[in-house]
Amino acid sequence: MARSVHLVRRPSGLPVAGDFAIVDGEPPSPRDGTALVENLYVSVDPYMRGLMDDTWPLGTAGEGRSIGRVVESRTDLRVGDLVFHWRGWRTHALVEPADVRVLRPADGVPLSAYLGILGGTGLTAYVGLTRVGRLRPGETVFVSAAAGGVGSAAGQIARTLGAGRVVGSAGSAAKVRHLLDDLGYDAAFDYHDGPVAELLAKAAPDGVDVYFDNVGGDQLEAALGSMRERGRLALCGAIARHSGDQPGPRNLFEIIRKNLRLEGFSVRDHLASQPELEEFLVPHLQSGAVVPAETIVEGIDNAVEAFRGLFRGDNTGKTIVRVGS
Ligand code: NAP
Repeated sequence: MARSVHLVRRPSGLPVAGDFAIVDGEPPSPRDGTALVENLYVSVDPYMRGLMDDTWPLGTAGEGRSIGRVVESRTDLRVGDLVFHWRGWRTHALVEPADVRVLRPADGVPLSAYLGILGGTGLTAYVGLTRVGRLRPGETVFVSAAAGGVGSAAGQIARTLGAGRVVGSAGSAAKVRHLLDDLGYDAAFDYHDGPVAELLAKAAPDGVDVYFDNVGGDQLEAALGSMRERGRLALCGAIARHSGDQPGPRNLFEIIRKNLRLEGFSVRDHLASQPELEEFLVPHLQSGAVVPAETIVEGIDNAVEAFRGLFRGDNTGKTIVRVGS
């Protein structure tokens, strides 16, 4: 049996279970030029909230990064091939060879990492630090939502690139401990513990050279206040905008005063850097110097709750739904 999660109503605010329906049916049969893939892992990501407003057609399973195994093929793909593709929120998908990347997982690296630190999540962190933040050895980096998927990759990659001090913010004391104990952050704080500007000034007393922004709002304002002369702010995401009133920074003049550069970016413009990411990270993953931080949620039935959890901070690391065995 094949199962998929359809969007059936446009959500208002945080989506609720009733915005989706679980739909069962027979697995689709491949026709010439397509292959049937049984999904093993599917990704849920904050950007999907935007798709739910207009782009994700109602009554369908929508898109999403996924990894699956070819189980039937009327293409050059072979039965048993592991493939990365974009037909998520379902247990079975029909794919065309042009739309998939055949994966050859490196020894000692879990397959799920190819949806996390070796997938779009890690690539976002890598290009945000190297291409946008232009991190140089010895510099201080501040990462917000630092215990999440992109954040846990960004902190570890910054360290590996030779950052002098890596500072992170997260939403609980347990996450702060995780940043310090497991992910190699030098300093970390819970952004609920007081004005973020004060917490950041304490964690980065000599200022910040590169801010990797996953959150926006008061964390962006705090970062602007702590930036050093000619600092760079890589604007990756603004997840705080989904939780009600989040005024923009009130201190934009800091950009002029300190000669700062703010640049937004989309990982989709950097997909050509995927081989570079793997070449850089795989040895660090194999040595254990970098860990693929993940929250694995079991079963496609739990995909909606896994997605909702991103906005409640339920996850540490990349949230991945395990679909098959
Ligand atoms: P994630 O960080 O794994 O999950 C979201 C995290 O955000 C939660 O765990 C939560 O952690 C934190 N959060 C939620 N609401 C918050 C709020 N109101 N204030 C502060 N923190 C909040 O998700 P991700 O996939 O790695 O994405 C992180 C960010 O990167 C998102 O903004 C996403 O849109 C963006 N992104 C951008 C690109 C790109 O191409 N530009 C690509 C991928 C992702 P706490 O417990 O710490 O609050």
